[in-house]
Amino acid sequence: MSYNVDEKGYYGQFGGAYIPEMLYPNVEELRQQYLKITAEPEFKAEFDQLLKDYVGRPSPLYFAKRLSEKYNTKIYLKREDLNHTGAHKINNTIGQILVAKKLGKKRIIAETGAGQHGVATATVCALMGLECIVYMGEIDIQRQAPNVARMKMLGATVRAALSGSRTLKDATNEAIRDWINNPVDTHYIIGSAIGPHPYPDMVTRFQSVISEEIKWQLKEKEGRENPDYVIACIGGGSNAAGTYYHFLHEPEVGIIAVEAAGKGIHSGHSAATSKLGKVGIIHGCKTLLMQTPDGQITEPYSISAGLDYPGVGPMHAHLAETGRAEFFSVTDDDAMKAGLELCKLEGIIPAIESSHALAVLNDKKFKPEDVVVISLSGRGDKDLNTYIDHFNF
Ligand SMILES: *Cc1c(COP(=O)(O)O)cnc(C)c1O
Repeated sequence: MSYNVDEKGYYGQFGGAYIPEMLYPNVEELRQQYLKITAEPEFKAEFDQLLKDYVGRPSPLYFAKRLSEKYNTKIYLKREDLNHTGAHKINNTIGQILVAKKLGKKRIIAETGAGQHGVATATVCALMGLECIVYMGEIDIQRQAPNVARMKMLGATVRAALSGSRTLKDATNEAIRDWINNPVDTHYIIGSAIGPHPYPDMVTRFQSVISEEIKWQLKEKEGRENPDYVIACIGGGSNAAGTYYHFLHEPEVGIIAVEAAGKGIHSGHSAATSKLGKVGIIHGCKTLLMQTPDGQITEPYSISAGLDYPGVGPMHAHLAETGRAEFFSVTDDDAMKAGLELCKLEGIIPAIESSHALAVLNDKKFKPEDVVVISLSGRGDKDLNTYIDHFNF
């Protein structure tokens, strides 16, 4: 069984490119070029250099001693929270901006929900001196003022999506409309392992640096490259895809995926796609998707903005369907508790998304000799107000 994308852009039955005719030339150009461009030695050298000197990679693989004692197993944290801009998203935006430059693009567009991907995109556009337009729902612009300010400081234009629920999916529609109208000079940077082929595979490859590093770091620390488990939270699934990538075909490595159960899987306020989703099409790919019986996308909910997405990337839908990954759904309350526990035990304030991955330690029992690697996808600075409100600090 292969867990990688096939030549047609599918993972099992999931993936593909379900796009309007008008978008075909843009996506087709990318599909024909992305493997060729990213395989060029010059591209690789520039990508690696920027990851090292600009992002600050390799990110440490930190043995969390006190957390390990508490759960009586060996826990390592992959510290994506220490990257420039505070999360793993920058790995992907650096890769895509370099692809855009090779394709001769002058203008970058992106969509953003909470603003994290918008900030990561605005950052690399400033770095490369390219024009940057970020589409964001009007409601999200009001809710996420600090990230809007960051994008503006970095030189980006933030355009409000005024239609529909005025949130992420409406921003995505606006970005797609822009791309249709500007097919020649514009590249659309998608922020997770989602979208039409080749995006899920391209984003996964850029993020796969995470598991590439885990392998040699674990060899140094434990004398073996493969952990017993890798754990990551899933919004669209990019930090998870990067964390799993080099272990997908190593059967002794258990893969654990963690979704947001919000106020409870069956509360009507969740983003537990593997439990509630049905096959459908979102953002140009076939995947698991939360939807009403007549196929309308359900509004997702999670306390963490990064997990508040009604689908999962096609790779993860395949991992769920084949049983290669074990899926857990973690509620807001349990995630917040796990986040606070990491603060007290290790002196690390995690992003609430990452706190969902940490909460699995309460749901699954590991053996004392197990080596468990958890992706700490981001830092919690952006979430301070949510922590304050939740715990009444
Ligand atoms: C955006 C984000 C996520 C969710 O995105 P994925 O593509 O699923 O990785 C998770 N953690 C943090 C810190 C984020 O900013």
